[in-house]
Amino acid sequence: MIDAALLDWYDRHARVLPWRTGPAARKRGERPDPYRVWLSEVMLQQTTVATVTPRYARFLELFPTVEALAAAPVEDVLAEWAGLGYYARARNLHKCAQVVAGEHGGVFPQTEEGLLALPGIGAYTAAAIAAIAFDEPAVVMDGNIERVMARLFAVETPLPDAKPVLRDHAASLTPDKRPGDYAQALMDLGATICTPRNPACALCPLREKCIAQKNAIQADLPRKKKKAAKPTRFGTAFHITRKGDGAVLLVRRPDKGLLGGMLAFPATEWGERADAEPPIKAAWLKADEPVRHTFTHFHLEMDVWMVTVSDAAARKAQKALQGEWHPDPAMAGLPTVFRKVLDVTNRDK
Ligand code: SF4
Repeated sequence: MIDAALLDWYDRHARVLPWRTGPAARKRGERPDPYRVWLSEVMLQQTTVATVTPRYARFLELFPTVEALAAAPVEDVLAEWAGLGYYARARNLHKCAQVVAGEHGGVFPQTEEGLLALPGIGAYTAAAIAAIAFDEPAVVMDGNIERVMARLFAVETPLPDAKPVLRDHAASLTPDKRPGDYAQALMDLGATICTPRNPACALCPLREKCIAQKNAIQADLPRKKKKAAKPTRFGTAFHITRKGDGAVLLVRRPDKGLLGGMLAFPATEWGERADAEPPIKAAWLKADEPVRHTFTHFHLEMDVWMVTVSDAAARKAQKALQGEWHPDPAMAGLPTVFRKVLDVTNRDK
């Protein structure tokens, strides 16, 4: 039986993770804290365990409970999220905490359906929390688990078309007994043994059942449809320093859209290559190199213009841009692309 072999392997080889209640602790009757499970799952989406581990600890120190997170200003949560990317997730995290604290008495719903109704919780996260925190036999599907299913059953249909079939296979294997440990075991197997390149089949507890391994096609699976090339967008960021005290002007980006609600340098829209219109008349200097950054759907190439202005001009700039002055923008929780702007201006000073 696949689930028995996998659980047996998990009992011996489970990764020790700060947000995890391991198999031995579970057997002693310890239960995972749904708040921690939720937080770790949101942080881990498209971010590695190594990056998340220290950030998770710090986040928990600042916001130890769902009530503490709900009561915090959203700006503090966004600043703490800086560098983890996908800032809409941090906004939703805060919104979700407010709903759990305000409408559910601080207690997370225990079912997949109840979890799905919360802001920012999608199919994967709902299934993961239901399984890990509440031992519901939910079918948890992420990229790692899709890969394991594609190989176990030798599914040759390319992704994303293969998703429903892979989900059906995963559902057929999900056990009623220890579903939380089972979901984490599959996650561990995908992360450590059934890796995208060079899967360690010799160490795999499922090798006897794995059709791809038998047919020696595991390295070719899962197949993927060719992606369209990412377009490149262009823009300009403006670094304005106030002469009197050296403070730098930052603006808060609109709530809706990319990096919504984050502090940033004033910048043009990102689109076709075009001459920039600076927000104020001044003796601007252009940095030698543009900032390059890749988002999920496009590459960005952003010129950086710099200027130091008198206090009177600074007041005008602040009014025109509705910005705020920061004595040390490095401490302002800027998202990665704007930290790169800061690096460029520091280099070109
Ligand atoms: S035998 Fe190899 S390909 Fe099959 S599930 Fe295990 S690691 Fe993956």
